[in-house]
Amino acid sequence: MAWSLFRRKKPSRYMVFASDEAMQAWEGRLREAGLTYVGTHEQGANTYVVLRGDDPERAKAYLRAEPITREFYYVVVETPDGVWGADHLTLYLENLRPWQRDAGSATCSGVIEALINGTVNLEAAAQGIQDNFLVEVACGGCARTWIDGVGYQRVTAVRCPACAAVNRVDSSRFIVTRH
Ligand SMILES: [Zn+2]
Repeated sequence: MAWSLFRRKKPSRYMVFASDEAMQAWEGRLREAGLTYVGTHEQGANTYVVLRGDDPERAKAYLRAEPITREFYYVVVETPDGVWGADHLTLYLENLRPWQRDAGSATCSGVIEALINGTVNLEAAAQGIQDNFLVEVACGGCARTWIDGVGYQRVTAVRCPACAAVNRVDSSRFIVTRH
């Protein structure tokens, strides 16, 4: 989740596979998801595999379909609308996009239907480690549901991938208690 700290370091174009078949299968899954491989780099104990794609929805679907079993291993997808990543615990959105902070442009209200990957992201957001946590949102305009990041205890703007309506989403009913 600290990928932004390392963005300036030029990634190497280097991946290790057990076999040519495994490499070709991986490349095929990337192609199907509309993703390209940018590079892999290591920072301390952390390994970052960096991908790029035009469509955040396809990026999220890819990340959810490729579970990560190792700790300290991150797959991130740079998209024109945010950097999505996954580690062994959860899918995550690196940072809220700047436009998400202005819910004044919203034309409807979205409803939070579920937390994604349990409370991992919610707890990180409550502690200020991340500026968002992931939820499934239902569009107030067309009822389509999708995964997006919202701020903790605040109103956030999210954009429906189906009808493009900007929804205002209020996360104030999700509270992490401290004892
Ligand atoms: Zn919609």
